[in-house]
Amino acid sequence: MRIVIKIGTSTLTHATGRLNIRQVELLCKVISDVKNAGHEVILVSSGATGMGVGKLSLSHRPEDMPTKQAAAAVGQCELMYVYDKLFTDYNHVVAQILVTGDDLRNEARKKNFQNTLFRLLELGALPVINENDTVATDEFSVGDNDTLSAIVAVSAQADLLVLFSDIDGLYTANPKEDAGAKLLPVVLNITDEIRALAGDKGTELATGGMVTKLNAAEIVTAQGVDMVIANGKHPEQLYAILDGDSVGTRFVGRKVK
Ligand code: GLU
Repeated sequence: MRIVIKIGTSTLTHATGRLNIRQVELLCKVISDVKNAGHEVILVSSGATGMGVGKLSLSHRPEDMPTKQAAAAVGQCELMYVYDKLFTDYNHVVAQILVTGDDLRNEARKKNFQNTLFRLLELGALPVINENDTVATDEFSVGDNDTLSAIVAVSAQADLLVLFSDIDGLYTANPKEDAGAKLLPVVLNITDEIRALAGDKGTELATGGMVTKLNAAEIVTAQGVDMVIANGKHPEQLYAILDGDSVGTRFVGRKVK
């Protein structure tokens, strides 16, 4: 299988912005093992800005563009250093690809991106993709890595997209506010009722950024690709996800000719 795995900042870092060593080590171990079993993996990793904030010892996430981009420049190095170090321990080679929304909208540049991606997979490398946050301002950017990972999954003709988040999946209500909220194991169609569960923009943070996750699900399922939202606290769940077991919420890709 060819799998795209999106890793959110909350999976990689503590609230301080510093690396969550235990979680990242486990994640890299599981992904290495999955690659050893013969699967192809592409990572879409957030965390550049968050780790930059930690490394520069900033007191909070910056609001202004130059500081945000400076933090991302510092954090992206740290991110790749960590991945390189941990995956090298398991004999895997990582490759960094940074793209902006503009790159993916421009046909020729998107083709180049795809060619590089496919070549890296043929070479057995592990592509690690992020938005090029140091140059991507609002008008050029994809904006969020849920959407970016969906575009990557479709471009890479992947079989599955896994979003490792800080939430177990899609719930019938916000689980942080409603004790009776139930996890939906399978979503066959992204209906208005399903969209309503993500809340509007105002509650997006509280529901774990569910709006962008549903957008990602719409993009990939329309192209026949399944998507699973699972909790990044338990990366070992990847084994069960690949076995097709019920983990988190699975959005089933529509059959395409
Ligand atoms: N590209 C951003 C970063 O690495 C993350 C964007 C997102 O998580 O949606 O900080």
